[in-house]
Amino acid sequence: MMDFTLTEEQRMLKETVANFAAREIQPIAEEIDRTDTWPEGMWKKLGDLGVLGVTIEGAYGGVGLDILSGALVGEELAKISPSISISYGAHANLCCNNIRLNGTEEQKHRYLPRMCSGDQVGALGLTEPNAGSDAVSIQTTARREGDRFVVNGSKTFITNGVIADTIILYAKTDKSAGARGITAFILEKGFPGFSVSRKLDKVGNRGSETGELVMEDCIIPQENVLGQVNGGVAVMMRGLDIERAFLSTYALGMAEGAFAEALKYARERVQFGKPIASFQLIQAKLADMWTLIEAARLLSYKACILADDAEKGGKGTELHKVTAAAVLFVGEMADKVCTEAIQIHGGYGYCMEYPVQRFWRDAKVATIGAGTSEMRRLILARELLAG
Ligand SMILES: Cc1cc2nc3c(=O)[nH]c(=O)nc-3n(C[C@H](O)[C@H](O)[C@H](O)COP(=O)(O)OP(=O)(O)OC[C@H]3O[C@@H](n4cnc5c(N)ncnc54)[C@H](O)[C@@H]3O)c2cc1C
Repeated sequence: MMDFTLTEEQRMLKETVANFAAREIQPIAEEIDRTDTWPEGMWKKLGDLGVLGVTIEGAYGGVGLDILSGALVGEELAKISPSISISYGAHANLCCNNIRLNGTEEQKHRYLPRMCSGDQVGALGLTEPNAGSDAVSIQTTARREGDRFVVNGSKTFITNGVIADTIILYAKTDKSAGARGITAFILEKGFPGFSVSRKLDKVGNRGSETGELVMEDCIIPQENVLGQVNGGVAVMMRGLDIERAFLSTYALGMAEGAFAEALKYARERVQFGKPIASFQLIQAKLADMWTLIEAARLLSYKACILADDAEKGGKGTELHKVTAAAVLFVGEMADKVCTEAIQIHGGYGYCMEYPVQRFWRDAKVATIGAGTSEMRRLILARELLAG
């Protein structure tokens, strides 16, 4: 039996983030999108709210709550601004959680407190121009020279890459060993040889600053290896289920945001002398959208609860399947719900003046980023066939 009732603490956290988003993000959500700029001071505000270190233990500057709590923050932020939410996920989960899971005591003390407070921004750099779905084919190399590594290569599509202070970076330390020759590093933006080559001009999630990174004889000290040398895939795999769980609530939140806009518009828009909400074809759309969202919520929260359970030593066998299914289903659900929300808005949905178009553009990434729907299906099928 699995209990989907949120604890008092989780409900309070959800409410706190919802209030913060309504007060601090809603009034500037359109501007963030239009200007494609991360709002000044937002990291510090999120840090002060305590949400950047939700899943990080108190000893490292966080509040030590569970994975579901961290994912609920992402859901609430995405209801108002998927851009803020995706950047939050890259920082709090891809960077902070992976350091929490794989870092040495020294690394955790050095990097986590300043990221939990919002004084510094985190990112994760895996994807390269020629290595997307086939992530283990990365070409960035790290050559050991005494007590340091010399890194050469480039990364693309890196969320927060333009502004990040701390980046988990994957590079090949043994080119002949395939997946067994990859190492994860903690890169600081001030390390010699590191630069940001450009910011990407995206269709959606604008304001979440996505960038291309270049390492030219970039020096990373040996103590900044995350996990083991040639153990990068183990680092990747350790964070994978949590990443999928987080990503599914991000997609869930944006579907909820688009649904709220559609419901409001259906009540207000009058045609044939009546609100369009009184037409059964519009009602059917609303009913289907809500049903999809609620089904997605169950799968998504289940993924978070199982990921939590696994962290606490649980030996459940469903984890990989459920997290893979959650990120697949919820991503496609968000894409579908946001498209229907546009349809309910008719021609106005196709104009920039209504917020629903922003959710529609933002939602597309939910079937692409961090693994495409196609790859998610292949991975899930592999899990199913394995046992
Ligand atoms: C907004 C955004 C933010 C991102 N943030 C980050 C980040 O922070 N860090 C990071 O490292 N990466 C990030 N990414 C990169 C993301 O993980 C990749 O875009 C994704 O893995 C897909 O890689 P690709 O874009 O190179 O597509 P490709 O791998 O080139 O795929 C192109 C198409 O081919 C299909 N395809 C590929 N292989 C197969 C196959 N074997 N069978 C069937 N179909 C296949 C794909 O499904 C897709 O439809 C981000 C991407 C976006 C768009």
